[in-house]
Amino acid sequence: MINGENLVPTSIPWGMVGGGRQSQIGYIHRSAALRDGVFKLVAGAFDIDAQRGRDFGTAIGVDADRCYAEYKTMFATEAQRPDGIRAVSIATPNGTHFAISKAALEARLHVVCEKPLCFTTAEAEELRALAASKNKIVGVTYGYAGHQMIKQAREMIAAGELGDIRIVQMQFAHGFHNEAVEAANPATQWRVDPKMAGPSYVLGDIGTHPLYLSEVMLPALKIRRLMCSRQSFVKSRAPLEDNAFTIMEYDTGAVGYVWSCAVNAGSMHGQKIRVIGSKASIEWWDERPNQITYEVQGKPLQVLERGMGYLHPTALADDRIGGGHPEGLFEAWSNLYVRYAQAMLASDRGDAAALAAIHYPGIEAGIEGVRWVENCVRSADAGATWVDYT
Ligand code: NAD
Repeated sequence: MINGENLVPTSIPWGMVGGGRQSQIGYIHRSAALRDGVFKLVAGAFDIDAQRGRDFGTAIGVDADRCYAEYKTMFATEAQRPDGIRAVSIATPNGTHFAISKAALEARLHVVCEKPLCFTTAEAEELRALAASKNKIVGVTYGYAGHQMIKQAREMIAAGELGDIRIVQMQFAHGFHNEAVEAANPATQWRVDPKMAGPSYVLGDIGTHPLYLSEVMLPALKIRRLMCSRQSFVKSRAPLEDNAFTIMEYDTGAVGYVWSCAVNAGSMHGQKIRVIGSKASIEWWDERPNQITYEVQGKPLQVLERGMGYLHPTALADDRIGGGHPEGLFEAWSNLYVRYAQAMLASDRGDAAALAAIHYPGIEAGIEGVRWVENCVRSADAGATWVDYT
């Protein structure tokens, strides 16, 4: 149970790049990092507009002299201070992630970076090597991976409660971009510009989220080959897609499917994962995150509720309020930030055993997301053909 008792001996001095006043995701990073006292926000290069970033930084309590015009100055200046930052979160548009993460690792900072980590597997592997050489953690914010019911699903599958796994059906299919909303919305504009978004829109922006949930629930499954078809229903978005279907075959003989979509008119979020085994299926939906449906062939449907004593102990470990009350995205992110902090401290003190026991989306998750997008794009651009997963 998380109840306010210290989860780390001391808060980690922490900075942010991006996540400024008008950003979509900045607030949840701060809320998650600060909620349980595991990080202390002391510096930031919060905005592409230096003045706006400074105004914003001071408005959220950061000293004016630690609100920087850009990240390179922040890393260099903070490194000179005895109380300088030891970790940084990067919440900027995709096209900047690689350069900022690299600079942060070179400045000997632990990193939490938004997804997609970068544009190519080669870049992602370069970051892995750099992080290893500097002995630093890279966390990647697949936020719902921190939700307790995802742990419950992982434990049920590992215990064989579903039987042999046959089918993994995934989707992240919202309707908010069913029209060319980017014309009036800068945060959508860069998402459909290959220079800032990378080789894909919805595959990287949202498809990688349920994909990572499947990696948490089914760590043994490895993709053998895949086939992807992608479309730009809003024509001005081409070559980037606003809809994509990906079919995957796994080494075990199981198959998987990911529907990535921003034009699912009427859908609020639509992130779901259904795992189908030979005996039973489970399903989780981010709009009802406190429940998992458990369907055993030939028996009535069961709805498992978060916070209840019948769940696996690991699914209760992060409980904050007990069953009945909802815990959602904010709590899931907070749980992840606790794990990031604990991993950073374990790494700093060279405690390999403690580090290995902390499960969080790290550099491998970042690499896998980038690799999956690369393979999907390769398949789609070859005419939706099967490609071996490389
Ligand atoms: P946004 O456009 O709303 O905000 C971007 C912020 O970064 C702005 O404050 C902007 O001024 C700032 N910025 C841009 N370049 C900068 C630079 N070089 N230095 C400092 N600040 C800079 O974007 P967003 O929707 O918040 O997305 C940011 C990142 O978060 C993207 O990579 C996106 O994919 C990711 N994201 C992740 C989730 C999730 O669930 N994990 C959800 C939404 C967005």
